[in-house]
Formats: sequence, structure tokens, C-alpha cells
Amino acid sequence: MRQDNTIYLDQYTAPSHHVIHTDLTFEIFEDHTLVINRMQMRRLNADATSLYLHGEGLKLLCVKIDDVKAEGAFECDEKGMTLQCDKESFILQVVTKIYPDENTTLEGLYRSGTILCTQNEPEGFRHITYFIDRPDNMSLFTTTIIAETSRYPILLGNGNLVETEVYPEGRHMAKWEDPFAKPSYLFALVAGDLGVVSDTFETMNGREIALNIYVDQGNEPKCGHAMRSLQKSMRWDEEVYAREYDLDFYNIVAVDSFNMGAMENKGLNIFNSHYVLADEDSATDQNFMGIESVIAHEYFHNWTGNRITCRDWFQLTLKEGLTVFRDQSFSADMNDAVVQRISDVKALRERQFVEDAGPTAHPIKPTSYQEINNFYTATIYEKGAEVIRMIHTFLGAEKYRAGMDLYFETFDGQAVRTEDFLWAMHEQGGFDLERFSLWYQQERTPTLEVSTHYEAESKKFFLELKQQVPNSVAGERQKPYYFPLAFSLLDEMGQELNYLLDDEKQHHLDRDILVVQEQESTFVFQNVVSEPKLSINNNFSAPFKVVYSEADYGFLMAKGSDGFIRYEATQKAAMAAIEHYIESGEIDAAYVKNFGAVLDDESLGLEAKAFMLELPSLSILMQEQTLIDVAPLSEALGALKKALATKYHNKMLVMYQFNHRPENSDLDAQSMGERALKNIVLGYLMSLEEERVYALASRQYDESITMTDRIIALDLLENYAPDLAEARLSDFYERYKEDTLVMNKYLSVLAASERTGTIDRVQALQNDPVYDVKVPNLVRALIGVFARNAVAFHAPTGYGYAFVAEKVIELDSLNPQIAAGLSTAFRSYSRLNPESKLLMKEALEKILNTSSLSSNVSELLEKILD
Ligand SMILES: [Zn+2]
Repeated sequence: MRQDNTIYLDQYTAPSHHVIHTDLTFEIFEDHTLVINRMQMRRLNADATSLYLHGEGLKLLCVKIDDVKAEGAFECDEKGMTLQCDKESFILQVVTKIYPDENTTLEGLYRSGTILCTQNEPEGFRHITYFIDRPDNMSLFTTTIIAETSRYPILLGNGNLVETEVYPEGRHMAKWEDPFAKPSYLFALVAGDLGVVSDTFETMNGREIALNIYVDQGNEPKCGHAMRSLQKSMRWDEEVYAREYDLDFYNIVAVDSFNMGAMENKGLNIFNSHYVLADEDSATDQNFMGIESVIAHEYFHNWTGNRITCRDWFQLTLKEGLTVFRDQSFSADMNDAVVQRISDVKALRERQFVEDAGPTAHPIKPTSYQEINNFYTATIYEKGAEVIRMIHTFLGAEKYRAGMDLYFETFDGQAVRTEDFLWAMHEQGGFDLERFSLWYQQERTPTLEVSTHYEAESKKFFLELKQQVPNSVAGERQKPYYFPLAFSLLDEMGQELNYLLDDEKQHHLDRDILVVQEQESTFVFQNVVSEPKLSINNNFSAPFKVVYSEADYGFLMAKGSDGFIRYEATQKAAMAAIEHYIESGEIDAAYVKNFGAVLDDESLGLEAKAFMLELPSLSILMQEQTLIDVAPLSEALGALKKALATKYHNKMLVMYQFNHRPENSDLDAQSMGERALKNIVLGYLMSLEEERVYALASRQYDESITMTDRIIALDLLENYAPDLAEARLSDFYERYKEDTLVMNKYLSVLAASERTGTIDRVQALQNDPVYDVKVPNLVRALIGVFARNAVAFHAPTGYGYAFVAEKVIELDSLNPQIAAGLSTAFRSYSRLNPESKLLMKEALEKILNTSSLSSNVSELLEKILD
């Protein structure tokens, strides 16, 4: 049944009017802001005698058509205004009054500390003024900002600064003009007293761009990495995609209160300070990598998102999947490509596979939604990027680039659909468009069952593939996929074997890629001189779960030719060993031996090795369970860890000491690799519960100059040696209590702790002076991390569920987006054991019985309980 508040892709209609030019004036006062909005309108639908403008929570002061008051010509409801007007072309002026200080949703114009800033994607602009607030309405914006000079010395808008003026009574004005038409979701404004770090970039055509990063005063020394990342991104996009930057300014502003990671507003990116500020003392290696990747992501949007945008929000993956693929490729070029691929896939599995397995699974191009904010998901972003990657694999780098060139050439300045992107790619040949499109339409993670056999006499190798495509959430049958599958046939030494494929049509032009198109297919390889070891889905060429019971993980771990597959083999082998332990209570000796070979392998990069030595997370292991049961998994993980540490403690100690350089804070691959590796082995050693190892962790906390080393030591001590942790936790707190970004880490260590009593401490921390329920980063660090702490959240008492439910209710009245994000913790509902299920149901019903619940939360919870 179609409910009133659901929006459907197939009901798209073009807007009746277009706002050609938008001239905005913001007069910022002590407790409110006046917004004067002059729109040059053009009628697109010749029959239209009225138009609808979106507007929510606005105090309307005046509406004029061609400078005449439009008394009686408009009617307002909760969502907007209907205006009677049958002119072809006219000037519409709307004046509204808004209260940014009271805006806790962090959509539209709001306050973060002393700064006024905006967040308008997807539908924030309607909280600023009445507007045709949809992405297919691309308008030219001029922004004039007037404010008190002492409180708001910095006034920023999109585009180029064209005018400034000093006004009487301590006020001043800045006027910004954006020469590129854009949808309102890309509009931005910032006013505040900010410090700035400036540099320049010379483009491929010799234009000099002014680069500015604005931050809270005092934070300027923490911007160097962000600035270098921006310059590298600009160069990379020129070299790899021939995309040049198009304005004179590129401004980035870091704010503490932000719902998302960052926002690509034209020429004026607004960032969560988490993705800008970093130095060795306050940021981990992971933070540095995150900054490089998010700065690049937002920069790349200038072409994939801003110059070419989405027709409607169902097309979100058009800009997000593509831009994530672009930022992943950039990071792979800047760093170790294998390590990058491993961490991308790991993130996909931990976030997107979980989403795909639950009641909120959706295609990368959904066909309906109630609340679009709920669709900024790992599926749209990360699975979307995997889909683009498959196109890249089908086409190869050269044709892919030709397809991108055609896309830019054809659609620049337009709001388009995913079909338009696919058209440009398909123009290069190389793949079956219609069959490939299923990746946009279907949901849930498919499984690929692999079986093989070898006939020594005929020298034939048979590979049988069977796709298991689950039904959709609604129970509809879904079709098998068409995809590229990278593989290799290896001999005993790990060298690639020659072969001849029986049917060359099944073979992609590229040597080691099969084109799979049927539910069941058989590939026959001839002239294979010895029984091969199969390495399949190399580099994770397609987003499948692969089941291959004959796989030789020990061999692939040690001799695999594909870096990703070597990692993959360690994870599969560990999962099998955990399963074995749960069934038999015994440690799998073969696994322990193979683990030792990885430990000894000198040929591996340090960071890749660290990934390979890591055991799968509880979140990954829980995905494999039909009925979630945390305790046995957690016990098996602990036992396996301890067995490995017992067997290899000498090697591990040597490895720790060899790689531990407490005075080194360099960010090169070697230094980061050393830290990653020695911290992994320290984690194993801690499970031995020996005083001498505890002393190592304590000393690491005391001596190391990097946050990476300190926070990991703190986390290990908290979980294994709480007596030793206590003093260091208070040292950490005292040292960083003024730095909210570091306090996020402190809260997360305590919220992720697997010790008993975590819930009590999390509850108490809500009253700590560093915590503020209105700052999303802090909420995510404390409550969000607690909700992902499987041991505490799924505690048999049900207290974890009740606590998170209470927080969802509290947050929903302040910031529905953050409340909805937290509600996703309940997605495991249908897979819980009966006792836990009953307890979670109680918690969910309590939320649903709350009056005036937001559509963000109700849409999610109804799906979960359904
Ligand atoms: Zn994005």
C-alpha cells in the first residue's frame, strides 16, 4: 500500500518553475537572522497558474511579486507555500526571520560554538527561506551577508568574493557571487571569528587558486595535513580525470557541531572538525588517513556532484558512489593500494553487508522513501562505489576515462540520472547495460558458491559457479547478476598457470577476468599442466560473499598472488577456526601453523601484515550467525587469541620491540606500518595476562609521542588491566579535556570496553563536563560506540537496549538525524534469540509510543519491527 508520506521515484514530475537567479541577503542580529530572498523566476510549465515553494519552521514577514505585495495570493502549510501567479517571468521576493541559535537539528542555518554555519543537503535550505528546494532547480546565487564586525569578522559564501563594505555602528558586509548554477543543497554561508591557514594551488592551465582553511583560533597549527591533502587531490583530479578547479577560491571551514563528515558546498566546504584538524599529539594514523580521504572526496564532488548533480534524491548514488570510487582510487594511488583495498572492503563488510542483511536493506538506487536523510547509507555510498568499480573493471582504465570524459562533456551544468551516467559509460562498449543495471535495482548481498575439480588425464580444470541471490526485503524474487570476476590459477609455488578457456566468449578481454552472467555457470580450462590452486574474486572484483569449501586458505595466505586474497584467506581461515572452537572446544592446529607463516613472512608490507594478523571483528562474525549469540563468539575469539599468543609469544615480543619506536611520529608507510604491526602483536600479548606485557602497554602509553600508540595502549589496559588503566585514563583526561576531538576518543575507549559495568560508566559520563548531547561527534563517540559494543548492548539483562532506546527518544526531540543513526543499532532484531528479542521489542515499542516521533526514526523502526 502506498502511504501518503512516501515519495516514489516513478512519480517524479519536473518543476513548474525555475529560479534562474537567487539574490540573498542575510542580516545577522543578536538573536535572529533576517533573510531577504529575491528570486528571478521563469515558468517552465505553460499551464501553471500557481507554484509551490518549500519552507519549514520559518517566520514569514513579506511576499512580493514584481515588487508588489502579494496579499491574498499565497497560502502556507507546514511544508511550504502555494503561490498564485500565472506570469511567464517575474521577480519573487520573500522575507523570512529565522532563529539559528535555537536550531538543534543542525539543518539550515545554525550555530556551532561561536560560528554561524549551514548544512543544506538534502533539504536544509527550506529552513532558511521559501524556495523550490529540489536538486533539479539549478540557480545562480548571489549572497550578501551583513553582521557585527567584532563577533563575525569573517563572512563567507559560495563562489568568489566580489564586494566588501564597512557599515556604521560596527557592522560590515561581504558579497559573494557564484558564477555556476547550482541546486540549493549546495548553498552555504559561514559567519564567525575564525583563524585561517592559507596557501595556493596552480592549476594545469596556470591559474592560481587561493586555498583557505578556517578553524577556531588556536587550531591553525593542526591544518597542515588537510592543506596538503587538498593540494594533492587537486593535482590528482587533473592528472587522472583532467578536471581543473573552476573558481578563484577554495574555502574549507571546520566546525565542531556537524551531522555528517563534511559537505561539498560549491567553493565553501563545511567540515566536521574531525576531518580537518590533526597533529601527532592529538590524531591517530587512521585520523590522518581519514582526513586525506574526506578532503579528497569533497573536492572531487566539485565535478561529480556540483557541476553535474542529481535530478532527484533517488539518484544520490550518482554522485556518492562515483565520488567514493574516486576517493578510494586517489587513496590507493597516494598510499599502498593493497592496504587501501583491504580497508575499503573491511569497511564495506562491517557497515554495508550488515545493512544489506537487515530490514532496512535497499538498492543503491531506491524507489521510495519517507525520509531522505535515512538514505545517506553505506549502500548508496560504499556499495555504490563497488558498482562503479565493476564498470571500471569491465571497461579498463582507458575506456573508463573516455566514458567519464563523455559524461562531463554531455551533462556539465545539468541535474541528471544514473541512467545518463551509464549511457556515457556504455557508449565505450565493454558491457551489457541492461543486465548490469540490476546492480542499481536489487538489494541484499548475493552469495557465490564455487566448486572445482581437475582431470589430470585430460589436463582440464572445471570451475562451477552458482549465484544465490536472496529475495528482496519485501519477499520478491531477485535475478542473478552480471559481473566481472577476477581469478587466477596457481601452481604449488604460487606462480600463475597457463590455460586455454574452452569458451572464449566467457572471457573478458583482460586475461584473468571471467564474465559471469548466469545463475549457474561452468568454466572449462584446458591445457592446465598440474592441479591448480584457485584464487577467486581477486581484489574483491565483485561485491559477493564467496563460499568455496575446497579453498586452500593456508596456501593462499602464504603464496597467494593477489594481496587482497592473501588477507581474505586469513579472515576465512580464522572464521573457520572460530567455528571449529565453538563446535569442539578445540584450537585448530593447522590454523595456528598458518598464522605463524604469516607472522614469519618477510615479503609482506608491514601494514598489510598487520591486517592479515588481525582476527575478524565480532560484527563480522555475528553476520555469519542465523541466530545472534554473542557470548560463544566472544569466548572463542578470546581463546583463539590466547592460543596464538601462547604459541608465538617470543616472536611477538621480538616483533613488538623491533617495531616500537616511541619517538617516531612520521606518517610514511614504513612508520605507520611499524605502529600498526606492533600494536596488533601487543593486542595478542595482552591476552596472556602477564605483568611484563602489561608493563609494555603502560610504558607505551607513557613514552610514545603519537596518539596512535597512546590510545591503543589505553584501550588495551582498559580491557585487560583496569588497575593500570585508571591512572592513565585520568592523565589522558586532564591532558586533553579542552580538546573535544580527543575527548571523543576517551569516551569511545570507555564505551567500547568489554569489562563489566560499562553501561554504568557510560551513563555517568553523560554528566561529565566534556560531554554535550547537542554535539553529534560526542553522541556518536559515547552512545553510538556503546550501541555497537556487542557485549554490552546485547547484555542478557536487556539494559543495553533500554538505555539506547531512552537515548533515541531524548535525541529525537533535538536532532532526528542523529537519533535515526543511533536507531540502526536495533537492526539485528529479527535475528535475536527469543529472550533478547522480547527485551528489544519492549525497547522499540517504547520509542514508537513516544508522541511526535520524527519520520526519520519511525520509518526505520517500522521497518525493523515489520
Ligand atoms: Zn559525498
